[in-house]
Amino acid sequence: MSARVRTRFAPSPTGFLHIGGARTALFAWAYARHFGGDFILRIEDTDLERSTPEAVQAILEGMAWLDLRHDEGPFYQMQRMERYKEVIQQMLRDGTAYYCYPSPTELDALRESQRAAGLKPRYDGRWRPKNSEGKTPPLGVKPVVRFKNPIGGVVQWDDLVKGSITISNEEMDDLIIARSDGTPTYNFCVVVDDWDMGITHVIRGDDHVNNTPRQINILEALGATRPAYGHLPMIHGPDGQKLSKRHGAVSVIEYEKDGYLAEAVINYLARLGWSHGDDEIFSREQLVAWFDGSHLSHSPSQLDFEKFKWVNHQYLKRMGGAALAEVCLPRLQALLPAGSAASGLAQGLDWAAICDLLKERCATLVELTDQMAWFVESPRIAEADAGQHLGESARSALFALAGQCEHCVWDKAGIAAAIKAVVTQTGLKMPQVAIPARLAVFGRTQTPAIDAMLALMPREAVLHRLREAAG
Ligand code: GLU
Repeated sequence: MSARVRTRFAPSPTGFLHIGGARTALFAWAYARHFGGDFILRIEDTDLERSTPEAVQAILEGMAWLDLRHDEGPFYQMQRMERYKEVIQQMLRDGTAYYCYPSPTELDALRESQRAAGLKPRYDGRWRPKNSEGKTPPLGVKPVVRFKNPIGGVVQWDDLVKGSITISNEEMDDLIIARSDGTPTYNFCVVVDDWDMGITHVIRGDDHVNNTPRQINILEALGATRPAYGHLPMIHGPDGQKLSKRHGAVSVIEYEKDGYLAEAVINYLARLGWSHGDDEIFSREQLVAWFDGSHLSHSPSQLDFEKFKWVNHQYLKRMGGAALAEVCLPRLQALLPAGSAASGLAQGLDWAAICDLLKERCATLVELTDQMAWFVESPRIAEADAGQHLGESARSALFALAGQCEHCVWDKAGIAAAIKAVVTQTGLKMPQVAIPARLAVFGRTQTPAIDAMLALMPREAVLHRLREAAG
């Protein structure tokens, strides 16, 4: 029987959880879930200059919002320093690592001579035990520790995404695994962690492909079982360039603020570099059922914000009005000045029904909230709209409508009949009554069906707005 699958997400806390990181986390998570395994969260915080507690928090919040739950962790590399040092000592004892005493001038000279000879600068192994026999370490130089990389042969692995990759050992020099102050270096910490945490599948961005052969060599020197590796291609912006701020929101939490639903984000992210036939909309459970490491794309994917919005719209439409009202009401309250008339009016409305009516035309919760505000805020009628749609005949139609609305049954059918009566009475066409009514009550010329919209407002408020606009 093969080992229980264990994957990990190992962000460096140098900023928010961005789209690329979230996609990596999602794939590692889904892979573990598909095989009934474990998903581990590890914070790679050894870069003290760039890591911040705020970034750790932002990453944890992003993961929580997307509901990508880890089974173990978060582990913090800074809390594991003793363990790394212990492994370094072990390797020095085993002879798989050695002290190297480079005086800076010596290294400069080496680099210079390699460059002059047209070679790529690389450490030449001069302090390898075999090469430094009888050499006395220079005084006052604190040594670094280097890994004794195998000299001949190749490192080969079958990448889950990229297929077979082979790198010659000739291309690698002896990696520094501890600096002269004793602190372990990045690639080394990753190796010890993946080993100690029993990671079976390393799924990460392909900016780490070059680290993999080095990490494999160290794992082998430690006698560790090497995990499988899958390197995910980058996510580009819509213009095919590296994703950056100028493309719009790149932090997942910003999508929450922008009114995206976590499930929609999961669905859209899953399609960046992975596919399941032509399926575009699928649930988290379906993703888990399908995500077996196949159908991962070899080439970079491109963010398409229109499509992202479309996916969100699909999820938003499927939610019931009551659930939408629950998530949007706090957003609406935040828009309205506390204690205002609008805020008071918001108390008495059937928001579930309102959300059900509005959701067809809203792609995000922000759009939905903005439209919910039409019901409680005084309409702001643009001058151009007033000029075009609130002429004399329109205004008298609004008066007539107010008159009808005073007595009609206050529901959709009753209001529809009231509008019809005004059409008959004035000889105007239906839009010549409906558009001014929309403008008068909601401040815009386009809304869902006007009878349904008005029925969701208190009669008194409708009468007041119709008469205001009628002047
Ligand atoms: N900490 C690395 C990063 O944020 C990931 C390392 C890994 O997955 O091995 O890019």
